[in-house]
Amino acid sequence: MEKNKIWLSSPHMGGDEINYINSAFSENWIAPLGPNVNGFESDLETYLNQSKNVASLSSGTAALHLSLVMLGVKRDNLVICQSMTFSASANPIKYVGANPVFIDSETETWNMCPKALEEAIISCIDNGRKPKAVILVHLYGMPAKLNEIKAICDTHDVSLIEDAAEALGSTYKGQKCGTFSSYGVLSFNGNKIITTSGGGALVCNTKEDQQKAVFYATQARDAAPHYQHSEIGYNYRLSNICAGIGRGQMKVLDKHIALRRKMNQFYQELFKEIEGVTVFKEPNSDYFSNHWLSAILVDSSKTKNNLTREDIRLAFEDENIESRPLWKPMHLQPVFENALYFGGSVAEDLFNEGLCLPSGSNLTDEDRSRIRKVINELFK
Ligand SMILES: *Cc1c(COP(=O)(O)O)cnc(C)c1O
Repeated sequence: MEKNKIWLSSPHMGGDEINYINSAFSENWIAPLGPNVNGFESDLETYLNQSKNVASLSSGTAALHLSLVMLGVKRDNLVICQSMTFSASANPIKYVGANPVFIDSETETWNMCPKALEEAIISCIDNGRKPKAVILVHLYGMPAKLNEIKAICDTHDVSLIEDAAEALGSTYKGQKCGTFSSYGVLSFNGNKIITTSGGGALVCNTKEDQQKAVFYATQARDAAPHYQHSEIGYNYRLSNICAGIGRGQMKVLDKHIALRRKMNQFYQELFKEIEGVTVFKEPNSDYFSNHWLSAILVDSSKTKNNLTREDIRLAFEDENIESRPLWKPMHLQPVFENALYFGGSVAEDLFNEGLCLPSGSNLTDEDRSRIRKVINELFK
């Protein structure tokens, strides 16, 4: 008999979600507005704890797109973006007709390398094309080097956008990721730390900004009794049904973060004695990761029988356990082959050696013993 699949990250309901959905039905708020949308936004604002104003949207990708629209990014502008990320961080740059400039990672957080960032900004300015924005990612929940990156953006007066799609609940020096910049982006896709089945949010600094985002997200209707438009709009608002799932999920978010962090501890233990394999963790106590996904690096020059990342992935696959190489850097993707790139081979090396492991908050002791068995047999 086929064993149950162990997923990298699957939805984990807390129980209360269905009650919010039921009230949407009983009050007939089956629309992309209503009490759950308002309630979810206010829950997020409270949780982020920095007097932010949140617009809930249909996806994290939509939030990234609107952040570029709000910053006035136009055709043929340059936008700097972390190379090591999911394609959704970079695609919206093309939606507005701008061009991405990709930046390598550093080895401590796997996020944007401050040195390569500064080099890129200076080079673009020297060529008469100052970048319009920087898209920074907190990969797998790990906060980026926010102090350094922010200082560089401030010095050169370039707006910073934080793609915190994977990092809800992560903190840097005690402050929540997604609250450090002009705009923060959250995602509630099915595989993220909490889900609305599909959804996202834009974290704004002012009420005016939040209202402008909602304006763009609801087809940019001017104030008039008829439908009047002076700007191009989008259909990007979150459904009141989906927001109901989000309200229930907010109640278990911190519990689920604790469980994901326990999964990371489990892997720290599991690989402690295994030569050539290191588990990704925070560089120091300034960083608190939600450990959305736990990941390992496999140095096959040091492992027993020179086992590789791919050997581990295939051994898991045989047991119906999902694992996945790290994000393939954007500057190596065929679709972005003509984009500018600054840095060395850090992101590429991470991609070649890294593997994401099952990390869900709903994994059981039985799941963990199946995972342990694969590793113990492979490295025995
Ligand atoms: C998931 C994700 C997104 C996109 O979010 P969606 O809600 O799926 O559109 C953007 N950036 C990163 C880093 C992500 O992991």
